[in-house]
Amino acid sequence: MVQININNLLSSYDLNDLTIATVCSHSSLQLFHGAKKEGFKTLGIAVGESRRKFYDAFPLAKPDEFLMVDNYKDILSHTDELKEKNVIVIPHGSFVEYLGAETFLTLDLPTFGNRQVLNWESDRNQERVWLEGAGLTMPKEIKDPHFIESPVIVKYHGAKGGKGFFIAKSFEEFKRRIDKKKTYTIQEFVLGTRYYLHYFYSPIQNNGYKLDKGNLQLLSMDRRDETTIDEVQRLGSIAELEEVGIHPTFVVTGNIPIVLRESLLPKVFSMGERVVQESLKLFGGIIGSFCLETVVTEHLEFKVFEISARIVAGTNPYISGSPYADYIQPNLSTGRRIAQEIKYAAKHDLLTEILS
Ligand code: AMP
Repeated sequence: MVQININNLLSSYDLNDLTIATVCSHSSLQLFHGAKKEGFKTLGIAVGESRRKFYDAFPLAKPDEFLMVDNYKDILSHTDELKEKNVIVIPHGSFVEYLGAETFLTLDLPTFGNRQVLNWESDRNQERVWLEGAGLTMPKEIKDPHFIESPVIVKYHGAKGGKGFFIAKSFEEFKRRIDKKKTYTIQEFVLGTRYYLHYFYSPIQNNGYKLDKGNLQLLSMDRRDETTIDEVQRLGSIAELEEVGIHPTFVVTGNIPIVLRESLLPKVFSMGERVVQESLKLFGGIIGSFCLETVVTEHLEFKVFEISARIVAGTNPYISGSPYADYIQPNLSTGRRIAQEIKYAAKHDLLTEILS
């Protein structure tokens, strides 16, 4: 595997003339908008000319220039050109998915965040080692479907956006619905309300909520809008619908802004802090934005069912700030916060601390 040496990569860069680049999807409008606000040049990587026209609709979030490719893996044949433009890549969920994990890990361009996190985040077993090691409570895992005694959610590995996930209440139901060709995990279905918490960890700044090294911010939170589960009850109860063969699905279609009971916020910081501390121990740290996907139970306990280790699309409602970011700085989006971190690091010769 190609070893990325970030010092070598940056050695030819003009740090006063950096370009922020990402793939034109997911949270790219927010990332370009935030980078422009901080004075960066921006570059969008897109498949298909039609994308260019789409960005014309949003002049303040349109990248200064595009790199048009036939497919995302073609980015690899353009890395020299991108290096000449002093490009720093900001990965988001779709970026990693389109490129493929292997290609992403070996992409020969400076990338915001610690790429090693992918090995811990993309494997559900490793993820559990990390999050439970940090003292978080996760939904119970059911190793053998014969032992399904209460509602479970079945998740296919690698399935993006909740595609194909289903609920089962018994072994028989599981057996009827499972696609045995795919690998899957069975988790206790946690009853409660969902909160997707958007953090930002800086290993190089020491103001605000301090950690042993660096600081932690809570920039916003959202609830995902998932079809059909979130609105299926308009047609009838889930039990009624299942009787006629209609099963709810968990496909993400959008994001809804939300705030949490203020009394729960200290727990939110404590969870974020422990996740960061454990990541520093395990793989050199999760850097920049990350999201804990949680359910809060009726006992006001958080159960964390997933971590996303980079900017999540749930931050998109907050391009002009949020009920949390507004207490840090007006008009602070996650995209802008990322740009600020790069700007600060470039100025203080700390880029190798936040790029990989
Ligand atoms: P994930 O791909 O793990 O983010 O799961 C997709 C969606 O399934 C989530 O956004 C939740 O709505 C739901 N979900 C996942 N895990 C659980 C769980 N253990 N209990 C209840 N709902 C869950």
